[in-house]
Amino acid sequence: MEEILSEYYGLNQIRLTPLEGYDSINFKVETKGKTHVLKQYPHSDATQELLHAENRILVHLSKLQSIDFPKPINTKDGKELVLREGLIFRLLSYVEGDFLGNIEHTPRLLKSLGEFLGKMDRSLLKCHEASLTAKEMQWDLKHFMANEKYLKFIPDNKDRSLVDYFFLQFLENVCPHQYELRKSLIHNDANDWNVLTRDGKVSGIIDFGDMCHSWTVNEIAIAITYVMMGKEKPLEVASHVIEGYQSIFPLETEELDILYYLVAARLCTSVCNSAYAKTLKPESEYITISERPAWRLLRKWLGINPIKCRDAFRMAAGYPKVNKPKLREQLKKRSTNLGKALSLSYINPIQMQRSAFQYMYDGQGNTILDAYNNIMLAGHCHPKVVRAGRQVMARLNTNTRYVFPEILAYSETLLSKFPQSLDKVFFVNSGSAATDLAIRMALAYSKKKKIMVLEHGYHGNTRVGIDISHYKYGQGNNLGKQDYIVEAPMPKVFGSGLKDDGSAGKHFAQETMSRIDGAKGKIATFIAEPIMGCGGQVPLAKGYLKEVYPKIRAQGGICISDEVQVGFGRLGDFFWGYEMHEVVPDMVILGKPMANGHPIGAVVTTSEISESFAQGPEFFSSFGGNPVSCAIGHAVLQVIQEEKLQEHAKKVGDYLQSLLVELQQEFLEIANIRGMGLFIGVELLDKKGNPNTMLAHRVKNELRENYILIGTDGPYDNVLKIKPPLSFSEKDADLLLHQLHKICNDLLN
Ligand code: PMP
Repeated sequence: MEEILSEYYGLNQIRLTPLEGYDSINFKVETKGKTHVLKQYPHSDATQELLHAENRILVHLSKLQSIDFPKPINTKDGKELVLREGLIFRLLSYVEGDFLGNIEHTPRLLKSLGEFLGKMDRSLLKCHEASLTAKEMQWDLKHFMANEKYLKFIPDNKDRSLVDYFFLQFLENVCPHQYELRKSLIHNDANDWNVLTRDGKVSGIIDFGDMCHSWTVNEIAIAITYVMMGKEKPLEVASHVIEGYQSIFPLETEELDILYYLVAARLCTSVCNSAYAKTLKPESEYITISERPAWRLLRKWLGINPIKCRDAFRMAAGYPKVNKPKLREQLKKRSTNLGKALSLSYINPIQMQRSAFQYMYDGQGNTILDAYNNIMLAGHCHPKVVRAGRQVMARLNTNTRYVFPEILAYSETLLSKFPQSLDKVFFVNSGSAATDLAIRMALAYSKKKKIMVLEHGYHGNTRVGIDISHYKYGQGNNLGKQDYIVEAPMPKVFGSGLKDDGSAGKHFAQETMSRIDGAKGKIATFIAEPIMGCGGQVPLAKGYLKEVYPKIRAQGGICISDEVQVGFGRLGDFFWGYEMHEVVPDMVILGKPMANGHPIGAVVTTSEISESFAQGPEFFSSFGGNPVSCAIGHAVLQVIQEEKLQEHAKKVGDYLQSLLVELQQEFLEIANIRGMGLFIGVELLDKKGNPNTMLAHRVKNELRENYILIGTDGPYDNVLKIKPPLSFSEKDADLLLHQLHKICNDLLN
C-alpha cells in the first residue's frame, strides 16, 4: 500500500487504518494535513469499467454546492486507476462528518436527508453510464426476485414464510408497475453508515459501490428503510425524509404507493443475504447481530396496514389520500344486491381490504388483529398456500374423472393423519357439502332413516345440513324438527352441577342412550362436534362419546365426527377433535381450515362404508378434488407440519387460557373459560347467574373498535369465541388480554 501511495500518488509518511468495506478493501490514508481513502479491488475488465463510470459520476456530483462526495484523485501521471498484480487501486478524498447512525434522528435531520438525496438524485438524472445501466445485482430492488434463491437458507420456517409473503406481495403489487416506473442512476445504499452529517444536517454520502440504474423511487425506499429501524413510529420517521425529498425532487403518486412493498423488499433482501452469509460463516455473531434490526422492522412492518402507509407517504409528499368507497354506499349496494338473510359482523361493519397472517387490514388504514377466523389456519394469505393455488391454476384445473398427481399426493398425506380404519376420502367444496354427503353415505350403509343430533349443534347450510342442525332449526322461523331427527341434550359440563371427571359424561350419555333405545334401532347415524362451536365452544363432557358410540353401532348405526371447526391441529394436544374423546369415528367431516379459505371439504370414512356407497349411483362433484384445491389443501398440511402449528396452538392456547383465568379473578361475569389449544370459549353471566348476552355483545363490539376480532355464540349468544389463525402469537394474546381487561374495566367497574 505504502509503495503504491508513494510511487503513484507521491504520498509519503502516511498512516494507514483499515476501513469497513463490502466489495473492496479500504484504507484510511492520513498524511500531513490531508486524508484520503485507498480502495483495492480484485481486477476484472468489468470492475475497471464500472470504476471509471463511478469516477465520472463522482466528478459530476462534486459540482453540487455544499454537499460532500468522495472525489477521485488521479495518479501523478493523470490515471484514475492503478492496475498492479491482478488488483485495482483507486484513491478518493475522505469525506468528513458524523455518521447518520451515530447521531439523534431529529425531524430536521431526517428532512435534510430527504433534501440531500433529492439533490443528488436530481443531479444524477443528467448522468448516463452504459456499464451501470447493464449492471445486475441482487441489492438492486428491481432485481429483488433474484433473492428468492436465498429463502431456503432462512432456518426458521415461520420467518421464511414471512419473507416469502413479501416476495409474493412484490410480485402482486410492484411487478405489474415495473415498466411504468421512472428509472435513473441512484446511489442505492443510503444507510446510516454511508450517510454523513454535520451540524444536525446531512452533509455527505460515501460508498458508491452499489450504484445502479434502477427505479428512481428505490433511493428513497432504501434510505427510509434504514432510518425506520428501531423506531417506535416508523411511518413518522419516513414521512420526514419523504417531505424533504419531495421539496427538491418530487416523487410521483405511483412511486409513493408502492413504497410499502419496496421497503419490505429491502428488508427481505437484507435478511435473505444474511441467511446466506451465515451458511458461509456459521460462527459469525456479527451477521446475527446486524440482521436483528431488519427482522424487527420486518415484523413491525407486517403490523402496518399498507393503506395506512400509502396514505401517510402521500400526505408527506403533499398529495391527497386515495379516495375510499364510503361505507354507507357499499352497504346500500349490498342490500340492493344481496339477500337480507346474510348478516354482517359488528355494529360498525368492517370494510376489509387485505390480510396477512394474523392481521387483517381495513380500508381506513387500520390493522386488525384476527382472533376469530379459524378458517385461516395457516395465516391469512400464507405464501405457501397462495403459491400452491397460483401454480396449479396456471397449469391444470380439471375434475376427478382424469388421473392427475395432486389428488393422489394429497389424499395420501391427508389419510396418513387418520387411524388405519379411516382409509377413504371423498372431496367436496364445503363443510356443508361434506355433511350432506356423509349423511347420504350413512343412510345408504345403515339402511336406516333416523339421525341423532346434539342440541345446539351445527353441521351445514344445505337442506339436510339444516335438518340436522338444532342450532338452526331450533331457532325462530318455525323451521322445526324433522320427524327423522332424534335429539340428544348438549353434554355441557359447565352449569350441569357435575364434574368433568367422567361423571358428567356418564350422566349425559345415559340420557342419550335412553333416547337411542327410544328410537328402536332406527338410528342411521349419530353426528357430533368434539367441541361444539356454534353451541358456544362447548367441549363434550369427558367419556360421553365413549359410551354413546358403541351404543349407536350396536343398533346398526354409524358415528360421524364433525371436525369442520376443530380439526387440523388447532386443539394443540390433538390433530383431530375425536382424539380428545378417545374414540375413532366411522366417518369424519372436514372443511373450513382445510385449505385456508379456499372452498373445500371432505368426508373421510372406512373402506366398508365407501364400498357400500359404491353400490349406488356414481358420486361426482364437479369441483370436489380438483387439482388446484388438492394442491392448496396439501400445502396447508405441509405448513402445519413445517411451522409446527399444532405445537404452537398448544403453547399459545395454554398461555391465552392462563391470561383469561387471571382476568376471571377480577371479573365475576367471566363465568367459564373452556376449550383447548386455540379454540377457546369464554361464557359470560350476569351477577344473578343468567346469560349475559348484552355484555358479550358489548365486549365483542368494543374489541372491534379497538381493532381486535372475536365472535360470540351459544344458545344465548353469551359466549366469546376465540379461534384465531395459528400465526397468532403470545404477543398477540397479550394484546387481546390487555384490551379485554380495559373493556371489562370500563363496562363492569
Ligand atoms: N360443521 C360445522 C361444525 C360448522 O361450524 C360449519 C360451518 N360453520 C359447517 C359444518 C358447514 O361448513 P360450511 O359453512 O363450510 O359449509
